[in-house]
Amino acid sequence: MATGMVTAEAPPAGRGQAAAAEPLLAAADIVKVFGKLTALNGAYLTVAPNEFHGLIGPNGSGKSTLMKCVAGAETPTTGSVRFDGRDITAASPAERARAGLSLKFQITSVLPALTLYDNILLALQARTSLAGLVFSRTRGVLHDRVMGMLEQFRLADRAGEPASALSHGQQQWLEIAMALAPEPKLLLLDEPTGGMSLEERRVTGELLQPIRAHCSLVIVEHDLDFIRDICDRLTVLDQGSVLDSGTVQHIQASPQVQEVYLRRA
Ligand code: ADP
Ligand code: MG
Repeated sequence: MATGMVTAEAPPAGRGQAAAAEPLLAAADIVKVFGKLTALNGAYLTVAPNEFHGLIGPNGSGKSTLMKCVAGAETPTTGSVRFDGRDITAASPAERARAGLSLKFQITSVLPALTLYDNILLALQARTSLAGLVFSRTRGVLHDRVMGMLEQFRLADRAGEPASALSHGQQQWLEIAMALAPEPKLLLLDEPTGGMSLEERRVTGELLQPIRAHCSLVIVEHDLDFIRDICDRLTVLDQGSVLDSGTVQHIQASPQVQEVYLRRA
């Protein structure tokens, strides 16, 4: 758990409060307009290295749009995104991948006819070539990496089966393993436990824990118990703006946040 942050944080840049150490991710003053609709209105998101950060808020509050602005699937109308010391506001998805960003969105990219093994292998190779790196690893190293990911996600005994044979929850795990295969510095997960059973959610929390050693996480989730259990800090969006951001304890005690969730309960 992060400690010592009991007050709401100021946005990371442009409003005068420098963070003690530079965060891994700092999205600041993000505005995103779709036609007549302002989906994000000055939103911000700050994530430290090795932090698990939950992004919560009612439906339509702008969570997916903010994730997409970080991932490069949408360009902010105004605002800035810094990642690992660099301004990536206008960087292409390929440049972001090269910098160490990895994402998994609501729509799965698992190829159902391919084996689990080949899905991971493909993800590893596709993201490596997307990042413009020459793939110099030997076949043995690649094999070890693929099997290591399958083991980490408890799918190794099914490596040769087609992905279509997996349950919905297991397909989600495979998808997360694919996103993690290229060893990103930040993983973005938008509602990864959608459609999972309670038990599958619990296991998902367990499966994510070890990645903390080398990767930060931003996760969008509706299940507040789940997010409280796995995250260090939370950012709460409402109607495109940040209501509050801070430790789980801070958010739980936040009157503004209580008001939004009670209003919609
Ligand atoms: P959340 O993920 O919190 O449910 P979204 O970020 O998906 O919210 O959406 C925020 C608002 O922006 C919603 O009103 C949604 O309809 C709108 N929106 C999202 N993407 C688009 C788009 N590509 N074009 C037009 N409106 C969009
Ligand atoms: Mg969404």
